[in-house]
Amino acid sequence: MDYVSTRSNYTLAASSHVMKIGIAPDGGLFVPEKVAPVSLEQIKSFAGMGFQQRAAQILKSYLDDYSLSELDECVKHAYSASKFSNPAIAPVKKVKSDLYFLELWHGPTSAFKDMALQLLPLLLVKAIVKTNEVKKVAILVATSGDTGKAALEGFKDVDGTEIIVVFPNDGISEVQKLQMITQQGNNVHVIAVKGNFDDAQNAIKAIFTDAQFAEQVNANGYVLSSANSINWGRLVPQITYYFSAYADILKSGDIRLGEKVNFVVPSGNFGNILAAFYAYKMGLPIHKLICASNENKVLTDFVNTGLYDLRRDFKVTISPAMDILISSNLERFLFEVNGHNSQLICKWMSELKSQKFYSVDSDTQAKMSKILYAGFAAEGEVLDSIRETYSKYKYVIDTHTGVGVNVYDKYVKATNDTTKTIIVSTASPFKFNKAVSGAILGADSVKSKDEFELLKILSQECDLVIPEGLKDLDKMPIRHKTICEKEQIKNEISKILLAR
Ligand SMILES: *Cc1c(COP(=O)(O)O)cnc(C)c1O
Repeated sequence: MDYVSTRSNYTLAASSHVMKIGIAPDGGLFVPEKVAPVSLEQIKSFAGMGFQQRAAQILKSYLDDYSLSELDECVKHAYSASKFSNPAIAPVKKVKSDLYFLELWHGPTSAFKDMALQLLPLLLVKAIVKTNEVKKVAILVATSGDTGKAALEGFKDVDGTEIIVVFPNDGISEVQKLQMITQQGNNVHVIAVKGNFDDAQNAIKAIFTDAQFAEQVNANGYVLSSANSINWGRLVPQITYYFSAYADILKSGDIRLGEKVNFVVPSGNFGNILAAFYAYKMGLPIHKLICASNENKVLTDFVNTGLYDLRRDFKVTISPAMDILISSNLERFLFEVNGHNSQLICKWMSELKSQKFYSVDSDTQAKMSKILYAGFAAEGEVLDSIRETYSKYKYVIDTHTGVGVNVYDKYVKATNDTTKTIIVSTASPFKFNKAVSGAILGADSVKSKDEFELLKILSQECDLVIPEGLKDLDKMPIRHKTICEKEQIKNEISKILLAR
């Protein structure tokens, strides 16, 4: 399988190369030249397999310069009992006859980013060998809170790599911040920026297209790569769990082979839902993909009007991993629905850069609406949905998943659709325990308590086990103290990569 850039006819690239460089040198994103089809028979066979085996099959169809035994080895290591607290890895939880949650947060950092970032470093190490790379790979990561920790955990002490994470100093939860600034490992660097996720992502993307900087770091023994969802290596592992969820429900007898389902995806950078879209294109029976946003509802507006408009205020919400206005992976989606038309992409992306908005034609909008439904949830609505989900099903969800539940309710009201629906649960409620315990136990019972007291309270009140990785964070030494202005991000990265 060869890969093309969304912005040009950049020479076709093999999957290991794509994984290693992360983003195309023309600023575009890599996508597979063709989508790999999966038949209903194959989906049926998934029902008889475990998660690891399902993952190896999906990966093989896109990463064809890896052997099946290499991929088997990677998935066994990544999706193992020592890393994931649930043996099903990505279990599906049924709460009523037509509603399910796909729990993607049983990995080491308690958010769905582990699903890809436990695997990516293993694939990358093999890519370094396959591409005869002698330099170290420096992974640059911009994070809205969860990717950073998951990438640090995945890449810590991985030979031949150095990892640098840039996160917004304000706006993320205390648990998220401590997860990153206490990170151990000999190849890890963490930088807090006085700015938001978009500032961090813009700075990192600019570095990737800065040829002069690339030359300097190359001369100093590094090649740059990305662990953000701009890297195809992040997306392909995410395709697996959509097939896996379907196979689990099929196995339970709740659906017949070929019956369509909906997925609700709490979205920010559009990476998770894009993986669902690829699953759909590959043949997974999907009726609608429901794109759920918080008050940073640029995606909702875009799907409903065709106008992508950044001329709005950035809001800090209780679902910070979705506080994003520039959703990078939308570029891949638009490229796919328009039959790989890179001219259109170049036009829209340059308009976005120069005038802060672009408008797609009605044909594109129609293609988009065929598969996507989009809605958003206001802050109070999210808390209501968390409370209601607990009182109806005795099931505790985090703030991001709360956005999903709220938008799903709105979808059902608007459409009366009775298709069985899977809400993608993207984080453990413990990771955002202040808002979650406030919603469930009442604002008064959380007042003046810190997030670590609340971990215990939430665990006792709702009879849940605190994830291992979150328990003693407040007792760990702080190892990373750099805080910089957004204009200084490149400078801080230079200090690390151009030193010696
Ligand atoms: C990253 C993240 C999201 C958003 O996913 P995208 O792929 O960026 O759309 C949603 N919820 C949680 C908990 C996350 O960490």
